[in-house]
Amino acid sequence: MAKTLIENGWVIPMNQRNLTIPGGAVAIENDRIVAVGESAAVRKNFKPDRTVDAHGKAVLPGLINTHTHLAGGFNKATTEDAKRATGGSFKRAIPLQEDFVKSDDLYFPGMVHGIEMLKTGTTTINEMWWYMPEPARIVKDLGIRAVVAGVVREMNTGKITPGKFDREWLPDLAKQNLDEAEALIQEWEGACDGRITTRVAPDGPDRARPEVLAKCGELARKYGVGLHTHCASVPAEQGFMEHNYGKRAVPMLKELGLLGPDMMAAHCVFVNDEEIELLKSSGTKMSHTAYLVGKRAYFPPMEKFYGSGIDISLGSDWASNDLWKTMRAAILLARVQSGNIELIDAWDVLSLATVGGAKGLGMEKDLGTLEAGKKADIIMVDLETAWCNPIRRENVITNLVYNANGSDVTHVWVNGESVVADKRLLTMDEKEMFREAQKVADRVWHEARGLFGDRATA
Ligand SMILES: [Zn+2]
Repeated sequence: MAKTLIENGWVIPMNQRNLTIPGGAVAIENDRIVAVGESAAVRKNFKPDRTVDAHGKAVLPGLINTHTHLAGGFNKATTEDAKRATGGSFKRAIPLQEDFVKSDDLYFPGMVHGIEMLKTGTTTINEMWWYMPEPARIVKDLGIRAVVAGVVREMNTGKITPGKFDREWLPDLAKQNLDEAEALIQEWEGACDGRITTRVAPDGPDRARPEVLAKCGELARKYGVGLHTHCASVPAEQGFMEHNYGKRAVPMLKELGLLGPDMMAAHCVFVNDEEIELLKSSGTKMSHTAYLVGKRAYFPPMEKFYGSGIDISLGSDWASNDLWKTMRAAILLARVQSGNIELIDAWDVLSLATVGGAKGLGMEKDLGTLEAGKKADIIMVDLETAWCNPIRRENVITNLVYNANGSDVTHVWVNGESVVADKRLLTMDEKEMFREAQKVADRVWHEARGLFGDRATA
C-alpha cells in the first residue's frame, strides 16, 4: 500500500458533468485518495513509492452495483431463453437455488460471479442472499467492497406461480433467516477494515407475511443498518398482493415502515404513478436492473423515474454482472421505451453506476467520485482498442459507455489495495476458482437435471 501515483491517464473524477482531465493523475495514500489533477501538478506535492502509467487508459471511480446475488453463479446462461409458458426463469433459477444448491455449494460458483464483478470494474456490491455468511466469506477473500444482507423469506420461493394466490408459509424458516440476518450484522458489520457492512433484506413483499416483513424493519433499526428488497419485480407479485391484501407492493412496504432513505428497492418494474410518488416522498432508493429485466421483456417506467428525483443506481441482480452491459441496457432500452433520445446520455448513465450507487447506499462521503479524502476505489479502462479509437477529450466518456467492455478494465483498487493489475486478479488463482466452481456446478446441475427439460446439461 503506502503511496501510489496513477499518472498520465484520462482522469474522469465524476464530480463535474463531462469533466475529463487529459494527462491526469490520482494520488493514493493507504486507503484514501489524497490528490486528483494534472499529473505535473499532483507530482509536485506527492512523493510516491510506486507509480502506475495510465497512458491510453481512462481512470475513474470504481463502479457500484446495488443489487447482486453471488449465488447466481449457478444460474449463468441457464435461464435467459426459458419460455414463459413453462414458468420462465422463475421455474428454473429459483427452484434450483431453493431445492438443490446447499450452503456448502456456494463458495466457488459465488466466487466466480464475484471475480466477474471485480474484473469488469465493480468495486462495491450490495449483496443479498440466504446461506449467510457464505457470500460474506467470498467478499472477504475476493477483496471487493460489499454491503451484505441476510435474506428473510417465509416460503419456498420456487413455488411462486402466477395466478396462484395461496402460500405455504414457513414460520420456522422466517425465524431462522431473521436469526441468520442478525448474526451476520453482529459478525460482519465493519469487517475487513470497514470494507464490509451489512443490511437486512426482506426477500420481497409477497415472500413473507406482513408481520415478518415488519420484523425485518425492527431488526435493521435495532442495529442502525439499512434495508434491501426486491420490489414490484414480477406480475405475480402484484397479483398476489392485490388478491390477498387489497394492497400493492409499494403501499404495503410503506405501511410497514420499510420505505425510507435506508431502503434499496431493486427492480421497481410494475409500479404506477402513485407508487413512484411514494418511493420519492419516502426517500427510497432504486436499483435499476436494466440488463436483467430487459432479458425478461419488461422494463420499469424510466421516463417517470428519471423525472421523479428518486436516487437511481444500477444493479445486475445475477447471471451477468458486467455493469457495462447494464449501463448500455439502461440507456438503449429507455430510449426505445420512451422514444426520447434526450432522456439519458452517456454521462448520466456513468453517473448512475458511480455517484448514483454511492448515494443509493448512503456511502457518498467515501465513494462514487475521485476526490481527495475519498476511499481509493479506482479503476483503469483501456482505451487503446479498435472500438474506442480515435480518441479526443470530448469523446472519452461516450466511448466508455457505448464502446468499451468490462473486459477492457485493466486495473482495480479497492480500499487502496491493488486487486487487479494488467487484467490479472491478484487476490487468488482465478483458474483454480473456475475449476472448483465447474466441479460443484456439474454436480448440482446433474442433481437438478429435471428442471432443465430438453436443455438438460447432464
Ligand atoms: Zn434479485
